[in-house]
Amino acid sequence: MVRAEQVHKSFGSLEVLKGIDLEVRSGEVCCLLGPSGSGKSTFLRCINHLEKINAGRIWVDGDLIGYREHGGKLHELREKEVAAQRRSIGMVFQRFNLFPHMTVLQNIVEAPVLLGREKKSAARDRAAALLERVGLGDKLRSYPGQLSGGQQQRVAIARALAMQPKLMLFDEPTSALDPELVGEVLDVMKDLARDGMTMIVVTHEIGFAREVGDSLVFMDDGVVVESGNPREVIANPRHERTKAFLAKVL
Ligand code: ATP
Ligand code: MG
Repeated sequence: MVRAEQVHKSFGSLEVLKGIDLEVRSGEVCCLLGPSGSGKSTFLRCINHLEKINAGRIWVDGDLIGYREHGGKLHELREKEVAAQRRSIGMVFQRFNLFPHMTVLQNIVEAPVLLGREKKSAARDRAAALLERVGLGDKLRSYPGQLSGGQQQRVAIARALAMQPKLMLFDEPTSALDPELVGEVLDVMKDLARDGMTMIVVTHEIGFAREVGDSLVFMDDGVVVESGNPREVIANPRHERTKAFLAKVL
């Protein structure tokens, strides 16, 4: 479902990604771990072409992201084509990024209707079902400001799902939450994983990685230091940098 080959990304003279390889199969959950500044967010942003990579290739569901290959050369896709690719990739950030002046329901209905994906009534019905699914069936008419952080984050997940993505990217979705609210968001993500959604999750929640992850990728300083089965990597990290990092977060 996702394949990255030798992805390089620099900001000016700062090389942030130094040749990332990664593969995530359909229906799998890949957990991405690493110290602050190691390039995790940058890599996620490259996957939906919010950042342009300097070298390498990324495919999502067989589509080369951001480019068309022709006669051995890469040609940049037009903005419209990039937008189309992006629509099949849902993203949830650390901060909830909901529209504060819209109700929960409007937040979810907005994009699918704007894009002409479905009629307003159909979009509303589906949004209500999605809210039910994330445990917020009774909050349709609330405004984001009236919800807890955990509830807002669940709305953000429902909003991403409303676009019927093939892939979900999560960038530390629980790290801005009070500890007692983390579980409810992780539960929604677990449920999603159980349903077969392909997910890449940047997280420091080791329990989640161990329980839900099909693979764990440890990044440091723009490279993949080690990867493998989460239970094995956590129990038996091979590299010093992985050991040191796990010792801090466990
Ligand atoms: P954290 O755990 O703190 O979120 P991270 O692993 O997600 O860290 P990134 O946010 O990907 O790390 O940042 C990697 C490096 O790239 C950092 O040194 C950061 O300062 C730099 N960086 C990220 N975005 C930009 C940008 N738009 N312009 C310049 N430098 C950037
Ligand atoms: Mg980050």
